[in-house]
Amino acid sequence: MRVTFLGTGTSHGVPMIGCRCAVCRSDDPRDKRWRPSILVEGAGGARVLVDTATDLRAQALAFGVDRVDAVLYTHAHADHVLGFDETRRYNVLSGGPLPIFADGATLADLRRTFAYAFQERAPQGGGVPQARTFQVEGPFCLGGVDVVPVPIFHGPRTILGYRMGRFAYLTDCSGIPESSWPLLSGLDVLVLSALRDRPHPTHFTVAQAIEAAQRAGARRTFLTHLCHDLGHAATSARLPAGIELAFDGLSMALT
Ligand SMILES: [Zn+2]
Ligand SMILES: [Zn+2]
Ligand SMILES: [Zn+2]
Repeated sequence: MRVTFLGTGTSHGVPMIGCRCAVCRSDDPRDKRWRPSILVEGAGGARVLVDTATDLRAQALAFGVDRVDAVLYTHAHADHVLGFDETRRYNVLSGGPLPIFADGATLADLRRTFAYAFQERAPQGGGVPQARTFQVEGPFCLGGVDVVPVPIFHGPRTILGYRMGRFAYLTDCSGIPESSWPLLSGLDVLVLSALRDRPHPTHFTVAQAIEAAQRAGARRTFLTHLCHDLGHAATSARLPAGIELAFDGLSMALT
């Protein structure tokens, strides 16, 4: 299995429009962060996108994502879904609708946000994304990859993280319910979101993410969904052993 970070920024991306801070003006390529998404390639070849971020087109071109077999959605906030229209290319390339997996609330939001794609009779000529929806109610198998949904708190709402083998991706996390902790045991790699150092009502701070990472005890933890407060080099230097900042394009093989 291989995991590639397509985007590791928060909803504004980094640099942020109109910001002149040191991180937004940084020359370090690891300080350029697209909106949050990962690509998971299963040992059997299945390519699964987690979320269709606002920057999906740029990400696909930069990282050669020329085939996608399915999308797993964590939740329907704009930064995680606005690339949905770009999946039209995957319809053409695969010759069929794209299977998308999400919880019931997220599917309802997607149907509302992209109503033009879910009409009974799709408008002719312009091209709209074609998706086949699957509601996630528990663990399932996707192209040879065992997928376990992991409910997490995102402020007042509960959204989904996903575990695949000994890898788990939990973005937009502000808390982990007690019932989800057993789903995080024995991980090689955990990805956890950490927005910034200042508290936020719907996102872990770096300190909160470190605390959760240490309780989960994965061999390696990568932090994502980072805002412009967190320069890559300076923030990396103060993280405990085994916890690292992710960056766009970071790719790793997992067993
Ligand atoms: Zn900035
Ligand atoms: Zn969100
Ligand atoms: Zn987000």
